[in-house]
Amino acid sequence: MPEKTKKCAHPACSCTVDENTKHCSQYCKDSGGKTEISCNCGHTGCAIGEQAPATTA
Ligand SMILES: [Zn+2]
Ligand SMILES: [Zn+2]
Repeated sequence: MPEKTKKCAHPACSCTVDENTKHCSQYCKDSGGKTEISCNCGHTGCAIGEQAPATTA
């Protein structure tokens, strides 16, 4: 079943957002008009080339 989520409007962001939301974070909202090669929204599994602060021992 299709979930009511869509991709963040940030071209380099792989996060999913609510259907009523355009960006997953303020970072993406501020970068919405720019073309960036990486996303620094801080969401796990999104940041490219950056290690997420996960609970990995
Ligand atoms: Zn992101
Ligand atoms: Zn985003």
